[in-house]
Amino acid sequence: MPLSNISAGVSFHELVDAAPDGIVVCDSTGTILLVNAQAERMFGYERDDLIGQQIETLIPDRYRPRHPQHLQGYVEQPKARPMGSGLSLFGRRRDGSEFPVEISLSPIQSANGTVVSAAIRDVTDRKAIEAEARRSNAYLISAVDSIQDAFVLYDEEDRIVLVNSRFRQLAGEATKGTIVGKRFVDMLDELLAAGFFAAEQGTPALRKRWIGYHEMPSGALELKTASGSVLRVVEHPTAEHGTVSLFVDITEDRHRSDELRRAREQAEAASAAKSEFLASMSHELRTPLNAVLGFAQLLQRDKKQPLSERQLERVDHVLRGGEHLLRLIDEVLDLSRIEAGAVAISLEPVEIASVLHEVMATLDPVAQRAGVELTAAHGTLPDRVLADRTRLAQILMNFGSNAIKYNHSGGHVRFELARNEDVLRISVADDGIGIPEDKRGKIFEPFHRAGQETGPIQGTGIGLAISKRLAELMHGAVGFTSETGKGSLFWVEVPVARALSVAPAVAEPPSPTLTFADGLRHKIVYVEDNPSNIAFMRELIDDLPGLELITAPTAEIGLELIRAHLPRVVIMDINLPGMSGFDATKQLAAWPETKAIPVIALSAAALTRDTSRAVSAGFYRYLTKPVKVDELMATLEEILAKT
Ligand code: ADP
Repeated sequence: MPLSNISAGVSFHELVDAAPDGIVVCDSTGTILLVNAQAERMFGYERDDLIGQQIETLIPDRYRPRHPQHLQGYVEQPKARPMGSGLSLFGRRRDGSEFPVEISLSPIQSANGTVVSAAIRDVTDRKAIEAEARRSNAYLISAVDSIQDAFVLYDEEDRIVLVNSRFRQLAGEATKGTIVGKRFVDMLDELLAAGFFAAEQGTPALRKRWIGYHEMPSGALELKTASGSVLRVVEHPTAEHGTVSLFVDITEDRHRSDELRRAREQAEAASAAKSEFLASMSHELRTPLNAVLGFAQLLQRDKKQPLSERQLERVDHVLRGGEHLLRLIDEVLDLSRIEAGAVAISLEPVEIASVLHEVMATLDPVAQRAGVELTAAHGTLPDRVLADRTRLAQILMNFGSNAIKYNHSGGHVRFELARNEDVLRISVADDGIGIPEDKRGKIFEPFHRAGQETGPIQGTGIGLAISKRLAELMHGAVGFTSETGKGSLFWVEVPVARALSVAPAVAEPPSPTLTFADGLRHKIVYVEDNPSNIAFMRELIDDLPGLELITAPTAEIGLELIRAHLPRVVIMDINLPGMSGFDATKQLAAWPETKAIPVIALSAAALTRDTSRAVSAGFYRYLTKPVKVDELMATLEEILAKT
């Protein structure tokens, strides 16, 4: 545009000075002809200082030597263009400092030949912003790249804008060309077509599943690759309406949890096998023991041919030996079941007074025989505790019987209750033999008898181990203090149940007396396959007037006989050849004519599992072998008294 066309009143200098960029005009030799106000400010010179100077004054020293050549080249082929195409250019201020610039060159034809106009822009700020942006971008990329899991970022059009190298490693081979820029669906189809995923997931099904998840991600998606890896895909929408996708390789975790599961299953199977083994061992041991103890009891009670004192003494040894063996079997079985976690503890509010009463009533005859006085501390509130009643009683029985056993005639055993906030401590104190100091450490370990191994006092060394485990299962604890020669104090602590109430004392059950002499003959059917058990029962019943025993070797025959005779009582073995005692009892309950007949179960299986099955199977009572003659007699009497 010729300058003359510019509106009147605006001078050429005013116009040049109003330009936002610095303008410097020089001739083909590099002599500065014109400088505007912006250029003055930018380079820190007065206009007059520059006019007539060489243009190289304004460029850093290192570029100066080659500059005249560049200028010459430009003058020979003059056209408007940016200078330095893509190079970083710098200006040099009067004080020698440099600053980044962008320069546009324009040739101007004048009367003195070609002159060059340079429009110079100071880009210091822009360069700083660009550098900052580059730095943040680099941070972001290195952060994304350092993620262990594969990472993909999609934009709002579902195109990949960023992936990390883990993703390239994972999917790079299965996808074609550059990953960035690909649409999600195209990438998915490429992966599917390349057989990246395990075929068993079904291609269309997998495609549908992933697209569905991608559209509305919730939770995680699990995928198996053809190479056997398991990937967990987690996606989240971004604020910019894109999506981030993470691929977590959980193959190792899966293997580990599979291994753990297998190990647990094996351990459970082993523990179940051990439990089964112990149960059947206990059955096998109890059956012959049943005969030993049963017949020994019969010999002891034989009124027709009473034994001599000497013989009675020997039978007493047999009985005591047998009972010890029985206790050992039961305790080993109990301990191993507790250790196998197979003991169900049912915690409920228990009236501690009634448990104590029951334990003391059981221990009283033992204490009397040993000449030991058994007392309980009065004055303490009888709290309700949170415990398994049977198991708590078992612990107290263990402490109490030890306190009597490891004592001397004239000794004392005292049960005491003390509440400390939410815990009730029940202690059993004795003034017996005490425990040697060096033996105290292992007292709660199985089979440790603290020096009593060779002594005259019978024991198995398992009772305290069981007590400790049981207390722990009830969220309680056990402990003791002892002084050699002076006595010991064993305690168990259990949580107090929240609601408190005073326990009513439990009435003592009447002691059984055997009276069958009502002139009637009562029939008893005994279903049992073991001949020595049958022989024992026959001898026992034969001694009692008014009772008639009918025996059956199998449940099937037993059912026939029961229907034919309609006996007053059935005594049923559980483990029978063919139909079991459980099923036979169920059958009896189903027939109208037999359903009222009480059935006493008599089984060698002492596992609690059997006992609870027995209750639900509808037995009148569940007795375990070896038969305790008094217990069986009391049960028979109870039933017969009901007529
Ligand atoms: P057991 O009495 O069958 O041997 P326990 O496990 O009940 O087994 O007890 C382990 C050992 O602890 C006993 O053998 C005995 O030496 C010692 N002991 C337990 N209670 C007392 C006690 N009150 N006084 C002295 N010693 C005791």
